[in-house]
Parts: sequence; C-alpha cells; structure tokens
Amino acid sequence: MAGIELDCPTQAFIAGEWRAADNKQVFDVSDPATGEVIASVADCTASDAQAAVDAADGAQPAWAAMPAAARSAVLRRWRDLMVEEADRLADILTRENGKPLAEARGEILYGASYFEWFAEEAKRIYGETIPSPASDKRILVIRQPVGVCAAITPWNFPNAMLARKVAAALAAGCTMVAKPAEDTPLSALAMAELAERAGLPAGVFNVLPTTAPAEVGEVLTTSDKVRKVTFTGSTNTGRILMRQATGTIKKVSMELGGNAPFIVFEDADLEKAAEGLMASKFRNAGQTCVCANRVFVQADVMDRFAEIVRKKVAALKVAPGLEGGSQIGPLINAQAVSKVETLVRSAAEAGACIVEGGTRHAAGELFYQPTVLSNVSHEMEIAREEIFGPVVPLIAFDTEEDAILRANDTDYGLAAYAFTKDLGRAFRVSEALEYGMVAINDGALSNAAAPFGGVKQSGLGREGSSHGLDDYLELKYILLGGLGA
Ligand code: NAP
Repeated sequence: MAGIELDCPTQAFIAGEWRAADNKQVFDVSDPATGEVIASVADCTASDAQAAVDAADGAQPAWAAMPAAARSAVLRRWRDLMVEEADRLADILTRENGKPLAEARGEILYGASYFEWFAEEAKRIYGETIPSPASDKRILVIRQPVGVCAAITPWNFPNAMLARKVAAALAAGCTMVAKPAEDTPLSALAMAELAERAGLPAGVFNVLPTTAPAEVGEVLTTSDKVRKVTFTGSTNTGRILMRQATGTIKKVSMELGGNAPFIVFEDADLEKAAEGLMASKFRNAGQTCVCANRVFVQADVMDRFAEIVRKKVAALKVAPGLEGGSQIGPLINAQAVSKVETLVRSAAEAGACIVEGGTRHAAGELFYQPTVLSNVSHEMEIAREEIFGPVVPLIAFDTEEDAILRANDTDYGLAAYAFTKDLGRAFRVSEALEYGMVAINDGALSNAAAPFGGVKQSGLGREGSSHGLDDYLELKYILLGGLGA
C-alpha cells in the first residue's frame, strides 16, 4: 500500500474484534480524484461471512432482550460520536468516494440523524390489544425483532445508506452483518469503530469488506441464521439477492435504482425550479438514486428555463473533493465515466443538442463536465437509463397529461419532482405519479422523519420515519383464553 495515512481501521470487524480476512488477503482502496491508493483493506470471503453471521446470531438474544431504553442509549452515543467526529469521517468519505468535502460532511450528519431518529423510535415499539370476539378471551399483539439482518450497501453514500439500515435494525433489537461496496469500505469500518466506542456489545454489528460480493452475498442471503436481507443498490443486483433469499423465505427490503422525472410546468417559478434542479441533479456529481434523470419542461417555457439552468451549470466548480469550493468531484470509477460518455454521445447522435459541457473534464481521468442537453426525446437511451452522472437532459412536453404519462413510462418508481404554483395541479400530479416519493417545488426530499423508498422496480420497504422500523419487526399475536369467571 502507498501513500496517505488515513485515520481509519482497515480490518474486518467481526464479533467485536478487528480481524484480518481468514485467507490473509487484502485489497487496495483508491482515491477517485487522484487514483492514489489510500488503504489496503481485509478481503473477506465466505468463511469470514460465516463467522460474522455466527457472531450476529450469538449476540442476537441478549441484544433483543436488552431494555429499549438501553439500546436507545447506545445508538444515541453512537450518533454523538459521529457528530463529534464528522470532520474525520468526512475526510475518509471524500477520499474513498470523491464527493466534495462539504457534501461528505453533510452525509455524515445526515447519517447521524438516522441514529438520533431511531434511538428515539426504539422506545416506541408499541403493541396493541384488539377487542376479542369472545368474552373470556383477550387478543394482544406485540412487535418483536426479526433477528439477524444482512445489509449490502452501495458506494454512493457509504455512510448514510448503512446508517439508515443499522440504526433501524438495532433499534428494533436485531443484529447485523454489513457488506459495504468494494470501492468504499472505509466509511463502514469507521462507523464500526465508533460503535465499539459507543459500547455496542460484541457481535451486534459486523462489517465485511470484500472484493467477492457474490461469494459473501451468497452466504448472507442463504444462511438459515439470517432472517432478513436489506439491500441498497442497482435493480439488477436486487433481483439476484431476492432470488437467493427465497430458499430460506427471508424478509427482504430493497432500495433500488431510479429514473426520476423532474417536471417544470409553465406556471412554475423558473428560478426556484432551476435551483431545485441543481440540488436534485448535481449532488454527488449526479450519482444518487433520487437524482433528476429526465427533466420535462413545458414547451412554452423551455428556452427560458434552459438558459437559466445552463448559466448555473456553467458556474459549477469541478475539482477534487478535498479542494476548497469544489462542487463536482470525480465519478466513482472508469466504467462510470464511460457509461456517461456513451449516453451523451448516443443522445447527440440521435439529435440532442449539447448546450453545456459534453466531454470529460481536465481535472483528472474520472471527472466529467457538468452537462446540459436540449432537444432530448423520451425514447433516447439517456431518458430510459439511470445516468448516474452530471448530465441534465431537457425534454419538452405540451400538457399535464402528457407529462404524467411520460413520467410514469418507466419500470422505476423511486423519486419524482414537480414545480408548479397551481395547488390543484400539485395535488393531481402528486397523486398520479407512480413513485414512492414526490417533491413539489423542492429538489431535496430525503430526511430521517420521512419514509424513503420506491415502488415498481425501485424497491420494497421504507427507510426512515416510524415506518422504517416495520421492516425489522415481526408481529406476534398472543391469545389469552380461559378468562371467564
Ligand atoms: P450495485 O452494483 O448493485 O452494488 C451495490 C452493492 O451490492 C455493493 O455493495 C456491491 O458490491 C454489491 N453486490 C454487487 N453484486 C452482488 C452480488 N451478486 N451479491 C451480493 N452483493 C453484490 O449498485 P451500485 O452501482 O454500486 O450502486 C448504484 C445503484 O444503487 C444505483 O442503481 C442507485 O440508484 C442505487 N441506489 C439506490 C438507493 C435507494 O435508496 N433506492 C440509494 C443509493 C443507491 P461491490 O461494490 O463489491 O460490487
């Protein structure tokens, strides 16, 4: 391993211990802004995964039996440590993922907000009593933890995507084995270190960095001991994991890909709509599941809106995430850059106009210029695929019905956005859009108090809000009979 000293563990975290992989192998993690190797991390395989599952299974009964207030207190301490250490965690995150430091810090605080939220929710896992059809019987319903959970998370929010899962699972009384993405394992390991300092009992949370996702994933999805699989990532991988989980009838939660429509009606405040678009589109250089992917603009206001957006996009600062003022960092890896390049090229060949950007950026190999395309049609590949890069495709539409029809014409259903000043239209459009989340006159919709998740092929289940606990709990019906005089 070369270079920079990172203040971050690099071994696997299993049963409360920092361990080398069984086979002693390691893999390099590099900074996408520079290509420099920043750490060598334990490369876990099936035997490590089995050890982690066994540890989580062993820790499960005591963790579930711990009073909710005590579980809550550990989560709260973990949250406080994340906030105290936000600068260090953000530095690690930027180095492995590339996003601007200010965004990375924002992600740490956003991740911490889930710990705060679920530390509180842990104390509110209420049951119910139901009027019985017989006078000598009573019906009670209690909510109990599902058991050992496996979490598989992506590289685009290496802290927050895991935070949303582990905070909810542990609040519910479940234990967890986490497999972070190969490109960004360090943020998960840094979280585990804070868990240890927060006093989390050994085995309750385990982290398996690996370059063998299929091998480790197979253990996690087929083990009898794992009762639930929670995944955030692409729809294709989600399908594989769901298939694997059927053998042992596990619960599954899937936070999958998106193809978010962003609709600008002629009555919208165009300046605010453009600001909303910038917030939705350019976070993490366009690599978020809720990024505006298709920007539908009513034909009458297209030229004005396109010009406002073009000016804002041209002013974005593209630079390594650690450089002051950076707004757009590198993409995660070479495949990501060539995917964006191909989508832009094929759109241009099919008749789209490049209004701004349109090529790689001189800041480094993995940087792509913030780009605006006009004259895009709904049929082009760039409007059918998740772009996952800093590209705004502008598509003109005529009527409200037309916008809704086209917005819904996709297998995805995660987030959608619409800008309008007409209250009636705001309701009609929100209700007609086949999406798990709809933002009206806003470009940023995610927070711990709200249920995050998709419909159609964007997923199953919700994270955050009081509903976020449901996926980690089972209902148990208890009948009390023989109560007659
Ligand atoms: P991905 O390729 O599906 O990877 C996600 C995770 O799955 C990584 O940890 C990956 O490991 C692992 N993985 C891949 N193949 C696997 C297998 N056969 N068995 C077990 N694990 C496997 O997705 P990505 O490209 O990293 O992430 C971007 C995708 O995530 C986008 O589609 C985005 O929309 C989606 N996303 C959704 C949400 C949401 O909340 N709905 C949030 C963020 C991102 P490796 O990294 O080692 O390959």
